[in-house]
Amino acid sequence: MGKTVLILGGGTGGVVAANVLRKLLDGRHRVVVVDRKDKHYFQASYPLLMAGLRNPEQITRSLRRLLEKGIQFIQAEVAEILPHENQVRTNAGLFGYDYLIISLGAELHPEMVPGQNETAYNPYDIHAIHRLQKELEFFRSGTIVLFIASLPFTGAVGPYEIIFLIDAWLRRRKVRSSTRLIYATPEPALFPFAGKKVSSSFEQLMQQRNIELMTNAKITAVDTSKKELILAGGQTIAGDLLIGVPTHTGPLVLQKSPLVLDQGWCAVSPYTLHAKIQYDTEAHVAEAANIFCVGDAAALRLPGSGMWAPKVGIFAHFQAEVVARNIALDITGQEPRFRYRGKEAGASMITGFKQGRLLAIDYYASKPRVTLLRPSAIGYLAKTTFEKYWLKSWF
Ligand SMILES: Cc1cc2nc3c(=O)[nH]c(=O)nc-3n(C[C@H](O)[C@H](O)[C@H](O)COP(=O)(O)OP(=O)(O)OC[C@H]3O[C@@H](n4cnc5c(N)ncnc54)[C@H](O)[C@@H]3O)c2cc1C
Repeated sequence: MGKTVLILGGGTGGVVAANVLRKLLDGRHRVVVVDRKDKHYFQASYPLLMAGLRNPEQITRSLRRLLEKGIQFIQAEVAEILPHENQVRTNAGLFGYDYLIISLGAELHPEMVPGQNETAYNPYDIHAIHRLQKELEFFRSGTIVLFIASLPFTGAVGPYEIIFLIDAWLRRRKVRSSTRLIYATPEPALFPFAGKKVSSSFEQLMQQRNIELMTNAKITAVDTSKKELILAGGQTIAGDLLIGVPTHTGPLVLQKSPLVLDQGWCAVSPYTLHAKIQYDTEAHVAEAANIFCVGDAAALRLPGSGMWAPKVGIFAHFQAEVVARNIALDITGQEPRFRYRGKEAGASMITGFKQGRLLAIDYYASKPRVTLLRPSAIGYLAKTTFEKYWLKSWF
C-alpha cells in the first residue's frame, strides 16, 4: 500500500526532502508539503537584496511549482502535531501521515525586545530588508548599528555579510568617512564555536573595515524616541539607523505537542534526526520511529561544549537528504543507513562586492574544526553559483 510522507515547512529542509523523496519513491507513495505561505524565499540572498544586487522576484519561488513534479502542496497553518494519532491539525483540516518531517524553521520575535519592532529594520524579513535597501541608497552620514537580539540565530554568516556589504556600499558611494558602523552581539566572541583563531580573524577584518565591534552586548530594550539600544548593565548605543536580528524561538506549534524540546527547539538524535517523544502513560522518552526534525527547528548541539550547532541552510539541506533517503529505504524494505555528519566544505561568506571567504566546518569533531580562507573573488563566486544551483535544482 502507498505511504504518505508529510513535510511541514516548504523552506530549505522541506523543499530538499520533498524533491529527494519524490525522486526515490514511485507514484504509489505521496509526498506532501504544508506551508503557511505559497512562496519559498532564498534567505541566504537577503544580504545581496539589501545591497541592491538582487530584487525580491529573483530570490523567490512559488511552492506551487512542486505540483509539477508530483509533490502535493497544501497552503495551511500548522496548528497541532498529534504523534500518537499520526496526524497533523492545520487550518485546512487534519492530515494523516506514515512519516512526518518537521522543517518549520525558527520563529522570529522582534517584539521580545521592547521597542525593537518600532525602531529597527528586521534584516531577516524579505520585505523589511528590501525597504532597508532603499534607505541605505540615500544614507549619507551618521551611525548604523547592526545588533543581534539573542542566541541562537539562523544564518551564522548572515549578519556579517550584511555589515560587510553595508561597509562596501558606503565606500562605493564615497560616504564611508562620514558614517560610523557598529556591530553588537551577545556572543562572547565572533563565531565562538570555531575557536580563537577564527574569532580573531573576523575581529581583524572588522578592524580593517573600521567596523566597531561590541561582544557580550545583551540588548534589553530600544528607546524609541532616542533611537538608542539599552544594554543589560545600563550602557546605551545610539544610532541613526538600527538593524536588529530578532530573537529566535523554536516553532510554537512544537510547544503544544508531546515532542521533547531543548529550550523550545525539537530534541533530535544527532545522526538520524529522529525526533524524541514523551509517552504520557509510561512517563518515558523515546525516539519517534516515524517523526524527524531537520534544519533550524532541530536542537543540535556541539558534542563537548554543548554550544548550539550553527543553524544554516547548508546543514538543513544535508539533514533533509539524510532523512529523506532513510525514509525511502524504510518504505522500500531496506535498512536505513544514512547518517548526518555535521560537516561541510565549500560554504562561503560574502565580505564585500565580488569578494567572499570560503569556509569548511566540521562541528561533530571532538574539537570542532573551522577552516576559513582569505577574502577572494572565488569565495564570492562560490556563493552566487550555489544560489543559481539552488533556485534551479529544487523548483
Ligand atoms: C539573512 C539570512 C542569511 C542567511 N545566509 C545563509 C548562508 O549564507 N548560508 C546558509 O547555509 N544559510 C544561511 N541562512 C540560514 C538558512 O536560510 C536557514 O538555516 C534555512 O533556511 C533553514 O531551513 P529550514 O527548512 O529549517 O527553515 P526555513 O527555510 O525557515 O523554512 C521554514 C518554513 O516553515 C514554514 N512554517 C513555519 N511555521 C509554520 C506553521 N506553523 N505552519 C505552516 N508553515 C510554517 C515557513 O513559512 C517556512 O517556509 C541565512 C538566513 C538568513 C535569514
